Amino acid sequence: MIIHTEATALQIRPWSKTSHMVTWLTPDYGRIVTSVKGACRPKSAFLGQYDLFYTCDLLFYRRERDGIHSIRECSPSALREPLRRCWRSAAAAAYLADLTARVTVSHQESAAVYTLLNRMLDALPLTPRQDLKVLILLYEVQLLSMLGLKPNLTLCPYCHKPDRQWLRFSLPSGRFACPHLNPDSNGDTTISMQRDVREILLDMLETLPDGSAADMVTSPEIKKNRANPHLLLGLSRFLGMFITFHLEVPSAVRRVAFELLDKNPARKTAPLETSSP
Ligand SMILES: [Zn+2]
Repeated sequence: MIIHTEATALQIRPWSKTSHMVTWLTPDYGRIVTSVKGACRPKSAFLGQYDLFYTCDLLFYRRERDGIHSIRECSPSALREPLRRCWRSAAAAAYLADLTARVTVSHQESAAVYTLLNRMLDALPLTPRQDLKVLILLYEVQLLSMLGLKPNLTLCPYCHKPDRQWLRFSLPSGRFACPHLNPDSNGDTTISMQRDVREILLDMLETLPDGSAADMVTSPEIKKNRANPHLLLGLSRFLGMFITFHLEVPSAVRRVAFELLDKNPARKTAPLETSSP
């Protein structure tokens, strides 16, 4: 069966000397993998038609058995050229694409995640360097919600009195530990969360700014969070553990992405090649 869909390229891997294996996210078929035979040959019809983070018009033969479909036609509709000029945005995009590829499945409608990912990929190059992490956290929070893994942030009037600044969140139950209801849950893996971090998380869960990618970057959410680097760090730590626990993704990919974003390499100009006389 031939399928026509739009799709965003999440990963491209070499497959034999001249071919590629491309992982895509599509609105109607979830994550799909297509083989592109002869992709690297000089006369390939696919040259320049797809690259990482491109959104393309895709025609492929759907195979039910081994899960790898054969591409028939592909033409780009959004190149996201600005992502190729800023390595920080590209590193953030690579993390979002990797996470998305790990948590989405084949043949499952994924329109909401698809739209969210595309908006984020458009927003990343427009985002000032110091806000890139906020955007990543916003994506993670929204993704969890779309996957049905929204943390339950309800407080208990007995266990979480307003003067308590630090709260214990139980990872297995996905909610704050409530010893008065569950005295047996002492062995649960819990992490501490500052009360103000809970507020940020609630904000991020409730509001995804509408409109264009540019609107998202200038949204009050982003501005508000810029002022609280230590709370953002708390939120990042919480989400990292929550995601590793519930989505079973390796924590190293996220850690490396965040380390890269923190890097501040001194600007060095590459020495110009001089032709010897
Ligand atoms: Zn309680």
